Amino acid sequence: MIVCPILSGSSGNATYVESGSSRVLVDAGGTGIAIETNLRQIGVDPRSLTSLLVTHAHDDHIRGLGVLSRRYGLPIYASEGVWKQIETGKLGRISTRFIKRFRSFNGGVVDLGDLRATYFSTPHDSYDSVGYVLDDGSAKFGIATDIGHVTPNMRERLSGCDVVLLEANYDYEMLVNGSYPYPLKQRILGPEGHLDNRDAGKFAVELVRNGVRHLFLGHLSENNNSQELAYRAVRDALLEAGVDLDKDCDVYMTRRYEPSRKLVL
Ligand SMILES: [Zn+2]
Ligand SMILES: [Zn+2]
Repeated sequence: MIVCPILSGSSGNATYVESGSSRVLVDAGGTGIAIETNLRQIGVDPRSLTSLLVTHAHDDHIRGLGVLSRRYGLPIYASEGVWKQIETGKLGRISTRFIKRFRSFNGGVVDLGDLRATYFSTPHDSYDSVGYVLDDGSAKFGIATDIGHVTPNMRERLSGCDVVLLEANYDYEMLVNGSYPYPLKQRILGPEGHLDNRDAGKFAVELVRNGVRHLFLGHLSENNNSQELAYRAVRDALLEAGVDLDKDCDVYMTRRYEPSRKLVL
């Protein structure tokens, strides 16, 4: 399996996952051109993509979805609630044969050929949002971004993953003392907002205890976080819990406009 977040941050999110003949993007939150450029940078021809998966209908996850689906003839998998929002949105016409809906209630599985995607509900202020675990039979990759808190169901679903893209959205002090208007601060801080660096650190410890060997830290806020703060918070939590960062788990930072490390498992 190959995993590479090619865009990650509040301005756009997309993660490339490949196994066998399946080449999937989870979210397409950049412009079509940005996503194509970043795919080429990691040696992937966008024409070889086979499907698109969507976590939720916030703009930073769906901006390039319509363009990519039309240009490369790609099916789009999303929950019923997410489709309701996409269809009334600004993505342009999407051919009905590319519309693949699923019911998020109780979770389920989407068959993508050489990859299987298990979906599960996430606590986020976007209707019917989901996370995914992609499994090719030998490795598992889980996505845990855009989550206000960690639910028991998410814990269970992400347990046993080899790789997780974990949100470390904001530094608490920076957000609280920063310039965002009060209602926006409350939204981000709330149980359906985003995960901060400290909570990411706590969850990282649990994930590593349950088998995760590679962690990408992603979806960093441009205004309320820095690469150093996010990395340090998670590293310190792992070290404090006795995790050996040379042996037990690698921690990689994602990038806002460029592909992150390409992980081959
Ligand atoms: Zn987002
Ligand atoms: Zn979101």
